[in-house]
Amino acid sequence: MTYPNWLTQRAYVTGNQLALSFDEDNWTFAEINAIALDYAGKLAHFGITEQSRVALLAKSNAEAVFVMYGCLHIGCEMVMLNERLAAAELAYQIKDAGVDQVFVDAKLIEKVSSAKPVSFEQLKQAEPAEFNLMAEWEKDRTISIMYTSGTTGQPKGVRQTAENHFSSAVSSALNLGIAPDDVWLCTVPLFHISGFSILMRSLVYGMGVRLYDKFDASSCAEELCKGHVTHSSMVGVTLDQVLREIEQRELRVSSRFKQILAGGGPVPVSYLQRAEAHGIQVLQTYGMTETSSQTTTLQPADAKTKIGSAGKPLFLYQVKIDGANPGEAGEILIKGPQVTPGYIGRFKERTVQQDGWLATGDIGYLDAEGFLYVVDRRSDMLVSGGENVYPAEIENVLMAHPSVREAGVCAMADSKWGEVPAAFVVLEDPQMLEELADFCRGKLAGYKVPKLFKLVDELPRNASNKLLRRELKKWL
Ligand code: ATP
Ligand code: MG
Repeated sequence: MTYPNWLTQRAYVTGNQLALSFDEDNWTFAEINAIALDYAGKLAHFGITEQSRVALLAKSNAEAVFVMYGCLHIGCEMVMLNERLAAAELAYQIKDAGVDQVFVDAKLIEKVSSAKPVSFEQLKQAEPAEFNLMAEWEKDRTISIMYTSGTTGQPKGVRQTAENHFSSAVSSALNLGIAPDDVWLCTVPLFHISGFSILMRSLVYGMGVRLYDKFDASSCAEELCKGHVTHSSMVGVTLDQVLREIEQRELRVSSRFKQILAGGGPVPVSYLQRAEAHGIQVLQTYGMTETSSQTTTLQPADAKTKIGSAGKPLFLYQVKIDGANPGEAGEILIKGPQVTPGYIGRFKERTVQQDGWLATGDIGYLDAEGFLYVVDRRSDMLVSGGENVYPAEIENVLMAHPSVREAGVCAMADSKWGEVPAAFVVLEDPQMLEELADFCRGKLAGYKVPKLFKLVDELPRNASNKLLRRELKKWL
């Protein structure tokens, strides 16, 4: 089974619709398709064919989209490199992926100089060569390869096929609905599935993308008020910053703005409530690189009664809890056409699916009505006096304290209980440190109240801004 080339098809079906907006410039699907065809020729100039695997290292700007769309026309596999990674981390991924060529935004060339990259500048100036336009896409052809965030260990290179992306886009549309003039504000990186899936939805729906090369709370808050954009994707930390802007500047969010998809990690309940106060609908979603973004999403109608839940599976997907009785927590298993066929490189041999089910490494439970609650990473759970303790639950409570900016909890060895929770906090008012144990006591069982509170300036996070609890342990 094949799909028609999505770019060609889009330019043919709705060529005059807005495809991309970046800075002051806008491109329709017909315009961006013409640019992509030109870029495909330029890629061919450097010997890139449908057999090639290339790596792209770029900021999330219009030029990066042109190169990606050029790759789609050629049919090569794209390894998306994270521009925030250090040179050594990039070298690892480039080697692990065994790429034929690295293409890099000129500003980032230093980071990958040992890989003899071709700069976007050289690419742009190259004389286009003849190439085979990939007119039809095999469903199981790998389109993109993305490395996981490396939160629990070494990043793993995940294959995402045409079918993975297509089912992801279609399932999301079945859940959120789509309108012809929808525009998705993309301030999340294109080299992550959160950002790249917005481009895929753009092609599948014929939807516009308003792109930023970095997240900026102030302009993001303003975009929500201008009335051009209808959707956006955020993570907990950025949602908080946008809400602060709106609160402090007393901004009014446009009625045209529809929804924020918030994922990548647990979103504190207090943020959802603050957003609601400004008429912003925040839909918590759960997904991962291995599932081409969202697997479950909380429906707008349930957003109020199921606060804190990641929702129900999108229509094409199944979710179950490994071996647990109803209502009990256990490892989340996922099945569906959005699940990767596997990893590349070092983790190539690792089985990702057992009877079609992906073991996520995340702990969660389904409530009586089948709503999924993501509790925490299996690897971060601690056992205190025989009780399972999930750091995320404690962090959530701490984050609801008005003075707590950030909180991170990890296991600390204890002679009596085996392990006890320890908390690291960033506070607006350092005096408040004394209060935190009491604050937790009212809201958590005794064994969940951290035995140690430590004030820090910032928490250890990876390039995706995710809390690294394994680093916290080293701080003890
Ligand atoms: P690695 O696999 O290398 O350790 P990672 O799992 O952080 O890194 P990603 O694929 O970017 O890499 O992140 C997916 C993970 O993010 C999920 O497995 C889950 O732990 C977490 N996550 C995503 N959405 C949610 C959510 N709504 N609530 C809680 N956790 C979430
Ligand atoms: Mg993971």
